[in-house]
Amino acid sequence: MKLVIGILGMSLMFAEIGNAEASGNSNAPAAEAPAAAREGSTDRYTVFDATPAQEAALRAQIRLMHPEVLPLRVFFVPHWKYLNNARIFHLHVPTGYGSLMFTHLPGRTVFIDNDRYQDESWLGYWMAHELGHLKSNSTKESDAEKAAREFRRRLKDSHNKDLL
Ligand SMILES: [Zn+2]
Repeated sequence: MKLVIGILGMSLMFAEIGNAEASGNSNAPAAEAPAAAREGSTDRYTVFDATPAQEAALRAQIRLMHPEVLPLRVFFVPHWKYLNNARIFHLHVPTGYGSLMFTHLPGRTVFIDNDRYQDESWLGYWMAHELGHLKSNSTKESDAEKAAREFRRRLKDSHNKDLL
């Protein structure tokens, strides 16, 4: 029950993100659960407003990093929306970190500032940090970075294997 209330709460908050809700994902949490249990895959999260190349890169990287805790939703948003969402979630954005991405832990939702997007290695590096927040279930940057080191190592190892 608590979970249901949480999802409803998130849906209300995400009403701010017009595009995301309009793309027909308001029933996503309920629809996703059975498939997730069946497949047991690392792909059971929803990516919003990414280009096909961005989404493919993100999914490949998350697969390689194999995080213990997956996000439920990843939003690629323009800068103004990113700032809006940071404000909605009452987020204190620390210099050097949250200015590119941030994670809303109770909703397991990651926001990526798409105006700051550089390339796939940028994406992997910073997504590792956000996955670190999810794994440690901590908003502390030091906790996130500690967990991120392991994810970055897995990502790097897999690249090295590709080269052999
Ligand atoms: Zn952080």
